[in-house]
Amino acid sequence: MSSLPPRLLLGPGPSNVHPRVLAALAEPLRGHLDPAFLAVVDEVQGRLRALFGTANRLTIPLSSTGSGGMEACFANLVEAGDRVLVGVAGVFGERMHEVAGRHGARVTRVDAKWGTALDEDAMIAAIERERPALVAFVHAETSTGVRQPVERIAAAAAAAGALVVLDCVTSLGGLPVRLDEWRIDAAYSATQKCLSCPPGLAPASFSERALARVARRRTPVSSWYFDTTLLGSYYGAKRVYHHTAPVGLIVALAEALRILDAEGVDARVVRHARAGARLVAELEALGFEPLVAPEHRLPMLSALWLPEAIVRAGEADLRRRLLEEHGIEVGGGLGKLAGRIWRIGLMGENARDEVIDRLVGAVKKGAGLDSSTFPVGKS
Ligand code: PLP
Repeated sequence: MSSLPPRLLLGPGPSNVHPRVLAALAEPLRGHLDPAFLAVVDEVQGRLRALFGTANRLTIPLSSTGSGGMEACFANLVEAGDRVLVGVAGVFGERMHEVAGRHGARVTRVDAKWGTALDEDAMIAAIERERPALVAFVHAETSTGVRQPVERIAAAAAAAGALVVLDCVTSLGGLPVRLDEWRIDAAYSATQKCLSCPPGLAPASFSERALARVARRRTPVSSWYFDTTLLGSYYGAKRVYHHTAPVGLIVALAEALRILDAEGVDARVVRHARAGARLVAELEALGFEPLVAPEHRLPMLSALWLPEAIVRAGEADLRRRLLEEHGIEVGGGLGKLAGRIWRIGLMGENARDEVIDRLVGAVKKGAGLDSSTFPVGKS
């Protein structure tokens, strides 16, 4: 057995996994071409299609974390010199901008102040002005706790003939995702957030328009590992070896998706919404203040300015004590929000009242907080 202490994982991911998923991880291995395992692959692909709201045949559990999903989208869909427009409202929009550039794109960006959502009109104006080949942005910006608007931006991109890439790392399984209805061409997620599975897989989906774009490339896909044509030979009818699929993780993901489907995605979305709203209300009563306006708040990741008492006592010190004395992990701010906010995740299995009770009790005890404190972190 592991000597590591147990943890309640309330940061921006990973989240805790269900005991059934842990049990699936402990199953004896099968071969990656074993028909019994390939049936599980079929099942996972089918369940991911439903969750992504798509009929895309190339919907797969990519062997990588979420960042590999991002890399796969740009490696396949961008060639040197292509115009790409990226919406940047936090660390992960910034990462998309960086990755697109590394794959040779001529990148234009539309920025939003951190803690706010992308301005749809600014994105649409940039699409009409730049006529990019591809538009990319993040659905759930985990660095700021902002839910970005999708539909109008994606429709404008489609009207301009651009492909659309959507980062669904934190949204999938906690917010509705409807790739076909929204006309998204490529999307990726990660297993360690609202799917409550260990990190290591990036569920990803590519539309027929995206695959046709790959087929028209003048140059080979800039990554052999993430080449959708090669991946399609394993994650398609032929089941031909490309790389050794991470068998154990895919078996665990199958179990996590069965648990999700038994609950129902709609019920799970409601559970996340309720949990997020209650957490914010409880912490507001202790002097925390939400960074994000209510209409753009993510349910599964709350970003909060810190009360004066926590800033004075040292936020990193309190996070360390929460971890060491209560076994609870919460996230600090990233980039320009470091030291000024906390990011608290209630993802997947953790979006529950008893988890909120435990966290709020520990924060009160750890910081000696009551409702007479007030937030100062934003000054
Ligand atoms: N995109 C978003 C929105 C994320 O939150 C993350 C990770 O937190 C990533 C991409 C990168 O995923 P990973 O850390 O699994 O590579």
